[in-house]
Amino acid sequence: ELYNQIQDTKGNIRVFCRCRPLSKEETSAGFAQVVDFGAAKDGDLGILTVYVFADALPLVTSVLDGYNVCFFAYGQTGTGKTFTMEGTDQNRGVNYRTLEELFQIAEERSDSFTYNISVSVLEVYNEQIRDFLSTSFASKRLEIKQSAEGFHHVPGIVEAQVENIKEVWNVLQIGSNSRVVGSNNVNEHSSRSHCMLCIMVKSKNLMTGECTKSKLWLVDLAGSERLAKTDAQGERLKEAQNINKSLSALGDVVYALATKSSHIPYRNSKLTHLLQDSLGGDSKTLMFVQISPSERDLSETLSSLNFATRVR
Ligand code: ADP
Ligand code: MG
Repeated sequence: ELYNQIQDTKGNIRVFCRCRPLSKEETSAGFAQVVDFGAAKDGDLGILTVYVFADALPLVTSVLDGYNVCFFAYGQTGTGKTFTMEGTDQNRGVNYRTLEELFQIAEERSDSFTYNISVSVLEVYNEQIRDFLSTSFASKRLEIKQSAEGFHHVPGIVEAQVENIKEVWNVLQIGSNSRVVGSNNVNEHSSRSHCMLCIMVKSKNLMTGECTKSKLWLVDLAGSERLAKTDAQGERLKEAQNINKSLSALGDVVYALATKSSHIPYRNSKLTHLLQDSLGGDSKTLMFVQISPSERDLSETLSSLNFATRVR
């Protein structure tokens, strides 16, 4: 029922809800499953998994056709954002599968088009951009600039050229290794930062000579949970405020787009400013709202569903 309620397409924004199974700990602690998707019952998420990729993959064609596309995973920490985007070795996520599809279609079209594909791996943490592919340890300040053609970019950020999915995989490994180097608790840190992949595609039509430039953003957002009052101090408070600020800015932008507002407030956070070219206009957006099935997380689940309802 929830699934039907929430799966919706309006204009160029699609919203999907994905619920992970109850964990062993939740089951043994006696927490009830409070989310029911009707058809996809009893933790049988197979149907949803098929849905996830079936709906994500056509957007890859759009990227090669010159459209900007953005996928993001929203939700409380522990609900499967990283599972959906990165996946595991046995169960590859959206990042890998979309890139695999991207190279496959590019190959199929190689008689008529040439493509130049590059990848950046970054995070936004406390309203600061960090380049995970940069080898220089100097923490140069990275800022967002707009080019003469109106493209938003980050001067100085590494854009790694990739020829095939294997090279992408290597780049992603480098990215996650530098994430480990920079923090003492990777999971905790990544749940408070937005992990972002940007795939840049330049295409040339060999018949007409026409060139296009487009971007695919793949974003694993910071956890949307509200901070417990007792934790609201010092660095944690600052982090929480920045997360709050950027997630509400994202909600505001998508809401402004959905309601065709004349002012879209992209500049209110680094996150929305970075994504500007891929949110709105003729770009396409897919949002995964990740939720927990557990009774214990019910209020966060409702708050995530509210976010989704507001933006769809
Ligand atoms: P988040 O990134 O939102 O904090 P994770 O992706 O780390 O959450 O997921 C939390 C845990 O739940 C992980 O152990 C992950 O393997 C598991 N999990 C998440 N989604 C699913 C799913 N759809 N099916 C099975 N396990 C899942
Ligand atoms: Mg995560």
